[in-house]
Amino acid sequence: MIPPRFEYHAPRTISEAVALLGQLGSEAKLLAGGHSLLPMMKLRFAQPEHLIDINRIPELRGIREEGTTVVIGAMTSENELINSPIVQAKVPVLAEAAQMIADPQVRNRGTIGGDIAHGDPGNDHPALSIAIEASFVLEGPKGRRTVPADGFFLGTYMTLLQEDEVMCEIHVPAFAQGTGWAYEKIKRKTGDWATAGCAVVMRKSGDTVTHVRIALTNVAPAALRVEAAEAALLNQPFNATTVQAAADAATAACDPAEDLRGDIEYKTAMAGEMVKRALTKAWALCS
Ligand SMILES: Cc1cc2nc3c(=O)[nH]c(=O)nc-3n(C[C@H](O)[C@H](O)[C@H](O)COP(=O)(O)OP(=O)(O)OC[C@H]3O[C@@H](n4cnc5c(N)ncnc54)[C@H](O)[C@@H]3O)c2cc1C
Repeated sequence: MIPPRFEYHAPRTISEAVALLGQLGSEAKLLAGGHSLLPMMKLRFAQPEHLIDINRIPELRGIREEGTTVVIGAMTSENELINSPIVQAKVPVLAEAAQMIADPQVRNRGTIGGDIAHGDPGNDHPALSIAIEASFVLEGPKGRRTVPADGFFLGTYMTLLQEDEVMCEIHVPAFAQGTGWAYEKIKRKTGDWATAGCAVVMRKSGDTVTHVRIALTNVAPAALRVEAAEAALLNQPFNATTVQAAADAATAACDPAEDLRGDIEYKTAMAGEMVKRALTKAWALCS
């Protein structure tokens, strides 16, 4: 319950935050919504000597459209995502899935950037960001770089983010007309992390799948894109056989950790079930 002592910093610009990260080195941590970092500090799993609060940086906030790209500030809270008319219209899976994350109080603080940067395989945004083909704008001492979500998640709590970088924006291509989508999450109770989850984005032409992205939550050390499952459906007719083939490919890729949410066999089976449900829902939304 009692976190260790630390020094507190509250920069007003991204470049000040980057400079502080450079000066203070690995003893410093960025503080966003604080709903993963503070719990870890209270349990003394993390003991940073400096916290750099990025809540007072206006550049990290806001949701806007740039052409066909939806630009989401890293400090956008889950509730802001849920209530954003732009997100609802252009990337509806994010507005719906954010309602499955944590609870109302946590959603007022927890940010999309923090959820992604934390690199917890239990978090929902990593798989969602892979399914929606998001990319992340990172600022470090040498300037900005943009990296795709697919490939960003390296392992449990490990991402491409360097110690001296701030995630600034999440860029998402607006869904094309007729895009289907779903996020299916099995959990023990409201406000719990997924036992298994699946994000799907899909498009069709007639009976044929013309685009599909499938990503899994909490069934591997990091969020997992399952290209073999996508290959089972792409340019194929959507039917019970191809859906089962996709689910089988997804379960073959699973590598879950056994814990109180279940053993490896159960989590793997639930991942397959979430894939089937998500595909069925997404297909029904395609037009
Ligand atoms: C009761 C409870 C239930 C929850 N349930 C879920 C759930 O079901 N699904 C889910 O996905 N999450 C869940 N969470 C996690 C929650 O959404 C967290 O808020 C989220 O994981 C981290 O976001 P944050 O903004 O709070 O980041 P923080 O806790 O402030 O930071 C987390 C980490 O990310 C780094 N970081 C944050 N922002 C940036 C940035 N812009 N650039 C670089 N690094 C950054 C920090 O330095 C830190 O290492 C739950 C949390 C609680 C307390």
